[in-house]
Amino acid sequence: MTDIDDTTAQTPEELLVDLGEFHMRTLVSPLPKQPAAMGWQAVSGSMAAGFARALHALNAVDPVRAREIVTWFQGPFEDGPDPEEHTDWLEREVAKGDFSLLDKWVQEGQRLAESSKEATDARAAEELKPLTDLVKGLTDPDPCHFDHHGYCQAHGWYATNPPCPHGRAHTLFPDTKEP
Ligand SMILES: [Zn+2]
Repeated sequence: MTDIDDTTAQTPEELLVDLGEFHMRTLVSPLPKQPAAMGWQAVSGSMAAGFARALHALNAVDPVRAREIVTWFQGPFEDGPDPEEHTDWLEREVAKGDFSLLDKWVQEGQRLAESSKEATDARAAEELKPLTDLVKGLTDPDPCHFDHHGYCQAHGWYATNPPCPHGRAHTLFPDTKEP
């Protein structure tokens, strides 16, 4: 019986090549327009640079340890380190068992995630503004008047699906409808 093992352990040299490729990928144009995506791309690039330098230095003094780190980084299924295992490691080695520090990281992360969401929403609303202004300008403030077929006689709309666009605009933007 033969076991087919499709996971191949990377060498530090191979991972350094991957990290170099990844770092270049974060620098080439076109860069993402979305500020959050742009920010994370820049962070990923500098993390790849930092990891490459540290791995290169470690490989020069302790190739066995470097290979261990590469194997850990690759993960058992080649999908990267296990986030939970690394959180436990941080708790032990970096926070030295100080749970309030970990809690502070979580709180700070949540605060940043919220402010990033607000900025993204505000930007989306700003990008949509020309379209929403256009819809508002084109909408007839008179209410729809439906006949027995469900067609809108007020706006000459002879369909029920989709219904009269003026009615749909009144629903989306209540201020377009006459009071
Ligand atoms: Zn209508």
